[in-house]
Amino acid sequence: MKKETITLALTGNPNSGKTTIFNNLTGTRQHVGNWPGVTVEKKEGTVLYNGYRLRVVDLPGTYSLTAYSIEEIVARRFLVDAKPEVVVDIVDASNLERNLYLATQLIELGVKLILVLNMADVANARGHQINADVLGKLLGVPVVFTVGTRNEGTKALLDKVVEVAEDRDTVSRHIHISYGHEMEKEIKNIQDVIWQDPSIGQRFSTRWLAVKLLENDTAVKERVHEFGEIGGKILDQAEASRTRLNEFYQDDPEMVLTDQRYGFIGGALKEVLKISSQSKFDLSRQVDLVLTNRILGFPVFVFFIWAMFQLTFTVGAYPMDWIDAGVGWFGALVSGLLPPGLLRDLLVNGIIAGVGSVIIFLPNILLLFFCISLFEDTGYMARAAFIMDRVMHVIGLHGKSFIPMLMGFGCNAPAIMATRTLESERDRLLSILINPLISCSARLPVYILLAGTFFGASAGNVIFSIYALGIALAIGVGKLFRVTLFRGEIAPFVMELPPYRVPTLKSLLIHMWDRSQIFLRKMGGVILVGSIVVWFLGAFPRNVELSVGQGADKVGVTGGQVVPVTVDGSHEPLPSTPLALGDNREQAMEQARLEKSFLGKLGHAIQPVFDPLGFDWRTSVAVLTGFVAKEIVVSTLGVLHATGADANEESEALRRSLRASGMTPLGAYALMAFVLIYIPCLATVAVIRRETNSWKWTGFSVGYSLVLAWGVSCLIYQGGLFLGIGI
Ligand code: GDP
Ligand code: MG
Repeated sequence: MKKETITLALTGNPNSGKTTIFNNLTGTRQHVGNWPGVTVEKKEGTVLYNGYRLRVVDLPGTYSLTAYSIEEIVARRFLVDAKPEVVVDIVDASNLERNLYLATQLIELGVKLILVLNMADVANARGHQINADVLGKLLGVPVVFTVGTRNEGTKALLDKVVEVAEDRDTVSRHIHISYGHEMEKEIKNIQDVIWQDPSIGQRFSTRWLAVKLLENDTAVKERVHEFGEIGGKILDQAEASRTRLNEFYQDDPEMVLTDQRYGFIGGALKEVLKISSQSKFDLSRQVDLVLTNRILGFPVFVFFIWAMFQLTFTVGAYPMDWIDAGVGWFGALVSGLLPPGLLRDLLVNGIIAGVGSVIIFLPNILLLFFCISLFEDTGYMARAAFIMDRVMHVIGLHGKSFIPMLMGFGCNAPAIMATRTLESERDRLLSILINPLISCSARLPVYILLAGTFFGASAGNVIFSIYALGIALAIGVGKLFRVTLFRGEIAPFVMELPPYRVPTLKSLLIHMWDRSQIFLRKMGGVILVGSIVVWFLGAFPRNVELSVGQGADKVGVTGGQVVPVTVDGSHEPLPSTPLALGDNREQAMEQARLEKSFLGKLGHAIQPVFDPLGFDWRTSVAVLTGFVAKEIVVSTLGVLHATGADANEESEALRRSLRASGMTPLGAYALMAFVLIYIPCLATVAVIRRETNSWKWTGFSVGYSLVLAWGVSCLIYQGGLFLGIGI
């Protein structure tokens, strides 16, 4: 009998190579990462093999099948409810003892299992000799060796999948891991009650149910509760059995079961695993002696972060200049091709200027994500989490929560998604709520513009202080929420330190690209629309008399210098002294017109709210449009200061206008703080909504950040005035 479709689920510990094998099997490209739990949602792909349609599901990585983390719940629910025909457990062959723990639970679940010993190359290099035949016989599970990175063993695995699905495999048999006399007696007692309703036994392995109940597994208890009257009886029996075992062992039955499983694995490995002594030298361990050293670890980590930002901003500055020049050139070109009028204005001052002012950050963002991918793929990210563990405990989170925080420097949206790897729902919510305080790369243009304009040579330090403010607030707010909203103990947790690996360039690039996509999509969507809306509000109602005339109406930036560009695209020399605003009649007229536009009216309407923070009406509008995305703050300021709207943080005309508008260094600092604290962008809000699955928490996140932003900015501005700074 030939089956048409075979569903096979890939399970395994995080980092055992599931995604790599998934890609080998299906030929698709998925995220490959080297720290716990990159895959949280299950991914699917299909492959046609020997006339079969194999549906491959990549489940999230888990160490066990308890119900303590989202990954475990997702994986277990799929195995129990979707009942895949074949379950493939991907095991890191160089770390058998730990990896086989999951296998013992899969065996118990009674699924048709194949054990894949992946990373056979690593195991070999470490001198591990594994007798696969004996292992397979002991476990009653067929064993296949693979090297995921070299696509070795893929065909053998596919063949095995078909064999097992068709029950043609000779090794497969169902074994019981023996838990000792007392435990087995109670398992039997519970099974007896379960068997009173035979329909349960058809849906679940009764032994598995009994064991889970002895472990006091909440998810299983809820399921059993839904069985109705019989469910109540089963639960009563389970409770009685647990009490008895507790007395007998003087320990929680769950602990006893865990010990027994490790005992079983230890026994099996004695028979099948030989480690030749000369290759016990473990490079990862040697490197860790330095990188996770109590004293050296932290400075080394700070150095890496520093290097990451250096690379991002110094190397990123070159392509930034090119793109900047390119955007200026393109604007001038379109300007030259089209007759003056609304359409040209929309294209040049709305779309090209708006999207252009954002696209120049693409190199920085790609570089930042490249560095983060490098940390992940080499295995350093897990060490960073380990090092930061003590620091994170200050806000009642453990080191693992640090990874999303670090990613927040790139973009808060994927960072918030990365919180999925946290076990406790409470930790996860807390991490989501404070993540937006980590200053993402989209906020940087605002800082560069303001700090560069008002703080001259110390701009770098000022920007650094804003980042530091964000971190300090994240810690403060985290601590506050911990003692008010999310009270309770920190769940103890072992940080898995995967071995260091040399990542492939391909996987680094794929990884970087996956992350950057959110940014690119934002640019094509929200930012494009935002730019058009801002332009529209600024361009109407339109007084034709006052509209910008021909001639030097476009200011392009070339190599960081401001050069008025005439319609034919030729450059005029830079004026040696900066122009005062009044010198440029056209600009003054444009300013007057803007003040009467929708945008101007809106600004004047909301300005009173921001008065205590020292924001004028233009700044108020910019802050409002910044709700869409922080990058838009800069382009809005550009439009409102009527500097030809090709504003970016290097535009000298905008800088001059800002200084002339009465903004002071103190006011600029208050604005930077405001931009730092209130919600990063609509995309982030959407992600928060999706990840918390709650409008309440989403609203709370937006609300508290607005209040905090207003409060902190007000404190800075009024405090500064009081102290007599920045008049
Ligand atoms: P997952 O977390 O189980 O999905 O694991 P991944 O597929 O993301 O793999 C984790 C890391 O192990 C990646 O850096 C892979 O390139 C690497 N890897 C996967 N299979 C092998 C293998 O057989 N040998 C070696 N040396 N590395 C592997
Ligand atoms: Mg994966």
